[in-house]
Amino acid sequence: MSAKIRLYVDHPLGAGQSIPLEKDQAHYLFGVMRQRLGGTVALFNGVDGEWQAEVTEAGKRGGTLTCREQSKPLQMPPDLWLIFAPIKKARTDFIVEKAAEMGAARILPVGTEYTNSERIRQDRLQAHAVEAAEQCGGTYVPEVSDLQKLSQMLDHWPAERQLMFCDEAEVGQRLFLDVAQGNALGGGTGADRSAGELVDPLSSQPWAILIGPEGGFSDKERKRLHAMEQAHVVSLGPRILRADTAAVAAMTLWQQTLGDW
Ligand code: SAH
Repeated sequence: MSAKIRLYVDHPLGAGQSIPLEKDQAHYLFGVMRQRLGGTVALFNGVDGEWQAEVTEAGKRGGTLTCREQSKPLQMPPDLWLIFAPIKKARTDFIVEKAAEMGAARILPVGTEYTNSERIRQDRLQAHAVEAAEQCGGTYVPEVSDLQKLSQMLDHWPAERQLMFCDEAEVGQRLFLDVAQGNALGGGTGADRSAGELVDPLSSQPWAILIGPEGGFSDKERKRLHAMEQAHVVSLGPRILRADTAAVAAMTLWQQTLGDW
């Protein structure tokens, strides 16, 4: 039978591999979850897939798990970044948790002109991504980057990475489905490649989604983003969404049209 408990471990996994437990992991497994010798725990490390491991030593302060068989191969999400401006703590936590569940490959908080929070706790946000992966059956954990400035990120933007720029100023205008199918009208962005022009299908390219802060984007930022060749300016419908709602909505649209759903 496969295990009910899933744990992320920072350790190589493979047949016969033994994994020493740290104190808090031992406390969780044996104290909280009441696991005993011979019990089974599912392990993943973001690289080697999921393994069923047996409890082969159990103590108050430590223990050992031994990998028996692989129960899932590593399943990589599509190459999609979620870039967002951090908002209030609980809502930022929500965005990271949902992005990990919904299959973001990387999560990048950025400071924009109207971002109010200047700092994030990267370690805490990373822990949220790990927890989300444990809970949703994922075998991959997206890396949460340190906060960086949006302008600096754009200075070094990778040439081939497409950008789904969720612009509240487009409210009710340009739909992502049209962009993904190459039907987008209007100019000023990579989205207006003329019909019939042969380009690599958008689905085979790396992508990023950009969500702004509660204050929205400044005119300067908007102008720069609109001028980017890789940018596809999209609307998320006729209502202005809060940033956390917008992140979930944008990921849903992207996954549905170009991703692995
Ligand atoms: N204060 C701004 C709204 C910001 S909403 C205003 O009133 O105009 C936060 C972010 O969510 C936006 O920057 C955008 O990235 C995204 N967003 C929210 N609703 C959207 C919509 N209808 N279309 C596109 N993006 C939207």
